Amino acid sequence: MTSNTRVVVIGAGLAGVRLARRLGELGTPVTLIGEEEHRPYNRVLLAEVLAGRYSPEVIALPAPAQLTRARVTGIDREARTVACADGSKIAYDTLVLATGSNPVLPPLRGLFSPDHVLPEGVHAFRTMDDCLGLSKQVRPGVKAVVIGGGLLGVSAARALAQRGAQVVLAQQGERLMERQLDPSASKLVQRHLKNLGVEIHTECRVRDVRVVGGAVRSVEMSDGYALDADLVVLACGVHPRAGLASNAGLEIRKGIVVDDELRTSDPHIHAIGDCAQHDGVLYGLATPALEQADALAELLAGRTNARYTGTRSLTRLTLTGAHSPFDLAAFGETEPRPGDDVVQLTDATRGTYRKVVVRDDRLVGGVLVGELGTVGALARAWEGAEPLPDDGPLLHLLTNDGGS
Ligand SMILES: Cc1cc2nc3c(=O)[nH]c(=O)nc-3n(C[C@H](O)[C@H](O)[C@H](O)COP(=O)(O)OP(=O)(O)OC[C@H]3O[C@@H](n4cnc5c(N)ncnc54)[C@H](O)[C@@H]3O)c2cc1C
Repeated sequence: MTSNTRVVVIGAGLAGVRLARRLGELGTPVTLIGEEEHRPYNRVLLAEVLAGRYSPEVIALPAPAQLTRARVTGIDREARTVACADGSKIAYDTLVLATGSNPVLPPLRGLFSPDHVLPEGVHAFRTMDDCLGLSKQVRPGVKAVVIGGGLLGVSAARALAQRGAQVVLAQQGERLMERQLDPSASKLVQRHLKNLGVEIHTECRVRDVRVVGGAVRSVEMSDGYALDADLVVLACGVHPRAGLASNAGLEIRKGIVVDDELRTSDPHIHAIGDCAQHDGVLYGLATPALEQADALAELLAGRTNARYTGTRSLTRLTLTGAHSPFDLAAFGETEPRPGDDVVQLTDATRGTYRKVVVRDDRLVGGVLVGELGTVGALARAWEGAEPLPDDGPLLHLLTNDGGS
């Protein structure tokens, strides 16, 4: 690639900003286009802003020099230009889609209005605007219902409880954070939220939200029970934001399909972060988004042997608080298959739980709650996929922090 090749990146989130910064360091100028009004920020820390622990400025990302504030509405692959909502056009030689995800809105009648605006009091939890909107409405005693008990719902419920709201969390599944945690770890998360005053309903389907005069009043369960609500948070998952790519005729499956060079079906267009599907996997997590940005920066700066081959990433949730810090980490397969070895340590008094799953002589997954001293050593053993040393009992995996 020559130094005057025009690289245009759509999306100033974690992946787009990282790519722009890395390319800047490598001497390749970039035009970064972002639609959000705020300075680019670290989305992972939004719950800390909602909890009142950080101000929005604290979670700002180092601003890249060339940031254009605009929403891209179309890609002309033949002319190699992108069109923006303000009528402007930007030409590219190489285009990168880093458009992230959209929140999934559950199909509830009360949520939909002809102008596609959510009723007053109902918020998704994806952007700084969502977070500031929620923050404005939350006060001690306010009745909040969080719909969804995954990572997002748990973070939102905890943050709202810390601000003094009366929070009810409605989870359709059997337990909290089912994707990441095994049943014992889920129970500890549940206990932690209950201690903060959060009321939790599992196996509970929401049928509708009742709206009066444009504002939410209650949330109706499928058994007819209604929960009063001044505030509702929709934390029902995300789906990749692939509309631009799909309208431009790029290959889409679950997300925008990319190869090991993070190239889409058009060799002039790449995709990274939540919107990209690599080797069949949609990650939806921060570490893979950053690793993809780093690999693509190397490639676009001319290091032609750079490749992205996937991320074995740990999910880590740190729920800090003056009186109740709560840490958890999970990776790989947390439920054993027949024949696997499982090592488990539980301390009910301290609320800690540690478990690893070993298959043949390899670590295939684990979950740690409350006591993360060994997380560095375990992550290294898992990420490296090396055979485990056979010089001691497996219990060492949970008790020896390996100097991390
Ligand atoms: C509250 C919350 C907590 C989270 N916690 C964790 C966590 O603990 N651990 C973890 O690993 N992950 C977590 N995540 C997920 C993590 O934030 C994402 O995986 C990560 O942000 C993905 O980065 P990205 O750059 O692909 O997308 P994003 O950060 O979403 O950025 C995409 C950007 O592109 C912009 N954009 C999209 N389309 C256009 C367009 N047409 N024109 C202009 N701009 C456009 C969007 O406005 C957005 O700013 C959390 C997410 C949320 C919302």
